[in-house]
Amino acid sequence: MKLILLGPPGAGKGTVAANVEALGRCHHISTGDLFRQHLRNDTPLGREVRSYMEAGELVPDELTVRLVEARIVQEDGSIEDFVLDGFPRTIPQAEALDELLGRHGTEIAAVILLQVSDEEIVNRLSSRVVCTGCGEVYNLNSKPPQVAGVCDSCGGRLDRRADDSEATVRQRLEGYHRQTEPLIDYYGSRDLLLPVDSSGAPAKTQAKVAQALMELIASRPDLAHS
Ligand code: AMP
Repeated sequence: MKLILLGPPGAGKGTVAANVEALGRCHHISTGDLFRQHLRNDTPLGREVRSYMEAGELVPDELTVRLVEARIVQEDGSIEDFVLDGFPRTIPQAEALDELLGRHGTEIAAVILLQVSDEEIVNRLSSRVVCTGCGEVYNLNSKPPQVAGVCDSCGGRLDRRADDSEATVRQRLEGYHRQTEPLIDYYGSRDLLLPVDSSGAPAKTQAKVAQALMELIASRPDLAHS
């Protein structure tokens, strides 16, 4: 199945996507993680996108679409099943994705829309820390590590993301409302949206997403094998 996760920064897209991947249906592809990998490895693309990312601004569409195309098109020209986390974030990106999938004879099955208020997002992200080794995400209030500053999973160092300061988070939220929210109508008009309230604990959100996907497959059995 080819799925998109839509929602503001901090809505829990990464956690939900990892869970959907674990259900065995598709690969979790996060454009933010792919870009951060380029930053860490100091690649030419990483050097090109650093200033946008540190300012909490979107990377230009053309660079982002190229990154996604290189990741999802296999050597044999087919497209693997995926759950996209953080892409598309603009109408031109959504159109480019439709065009790319159409060229390969496939399409999006559903768009999971995670819904949460701006104030909850600001609270969440101001207490978020991430493992610099394996990428595991913690929240100092709701999911603290066992030892302060150290990842439970791999022992790596925990750090704040450079773009999680309150001012940058507010800027990312403003960008979400302006540039990404139009996608709700874009996909809604094609009846692809699965809205899920993600204001509660991560486990609750995950259960709701799993339920929504089960209902989707029950209503469209063809998707179970697509
Ligand atoms: P994320 O981890 O999804 O919050 O992404 C972190 C940063 O990566 C964003 O603030 C953007 O600078 C960049 N980025 C990730 N995905 C996209 C996208 N689809 N379009 C443009 N920029 C992106």
